[in-house]
Amino acid sequence: MIRSDIHTHTSYSSDCDTPMEALIEEAIRHRLDILCFTEHMDMDYPSDPAKETDGRPEFLLDTDSYREGFLKMKEKYEGKITLLFGVELGLQPHLAAWSEDYAANHDFDFIIGSVHTIGHMDPYYPSFFEGRSEKEAYVSYFEEALLDIRSFSGFNTLGHLDYVVRYGPNRNRYFSYREYADYIDPILEHIIQKDIALEVNSAGYRKGLGGPNPCRDIILRYKEMGGELVTVGSDAHTLQSLCSDFGRVEELLLECGIKYHAVFIGRRPRLYPLG
Ligand SMILES: [Zn+2]
Ligand SMILES: [Zn+2]
Repeated sequence: MIRSDIHTHTSYSSDCDTPMEALIEEAIRHRLDILCFTEHMDMDYPSDPAKETDGRPEFLLDTDSYREGFLKMKEKYEGKITLLFGVELGLQPHLAAWSEDYAANHDFDFIIGSVHTIGHMDPYYPSFFEGRSEKEAYVSYFEEALLDIRSFSGFNTLGHLDYVVRYGPNRNRYFSYREYADYIDPILEHIIQKDIALEVNSAGYRKGLGGPNPCRDIILRYKEMGGELVTVGSDAHTLQSLCSDFGRVEELLLECGIKYHAVFIGRRPRLYPLG
């Protein structure tokens, strides 16, 4: 059984209202041993100025206040659950130097690198898909993702690799690893070479994709190419989503020949057996 959830959000993320302490209590109810918070930090996110929260642009993390809140909770829950200090960093090609600096200057246990924007647009918004075919849009996502990770590799796991298919006009109906292999293989090759893990994000089930992000065939390909490091997270923004569908993820990983999942503490992986 997977006894950790290492991709979660609380009210320190601008798109989440869940108090940190409520999520901790929920994790204890689920008998988790480890809970890692990975609050959103998307520098230069193309947000609507109307969506500012507390005078800060959307997805811009107040890292100092997050750290302070985390340390209070860590002390309070000592001996009950292991709490980890993580971040989900939004990658963009022009942010490489900034990201290096940010990662070096904060004491994170775990950094998820996630591609949330392409050409300064988030596929979450339908305008991203306007004026081009679904394939062109998906290809542009994987092409820029490769640029992102080649320019900055200082993160521990690559978040929800096929994020774009959550929001495409036909979602994943016509999407397959095979169709996009030429764009996905170089991404997998790069992370394997840099010892960056592949995240298996269970939110795909909640979003109606019938599987995690990335999909089964991408996980199989990663394994085939020699990839071994996998992290598992729910991407919970609510209490209900904490470790959701982890039983299905575990079964899928075992089917793909993956025997361990990794948890990063102090930016170093520890392996826990699956099954
Ligand atoms: Zn994300
Ligand atoms: Zn997330």
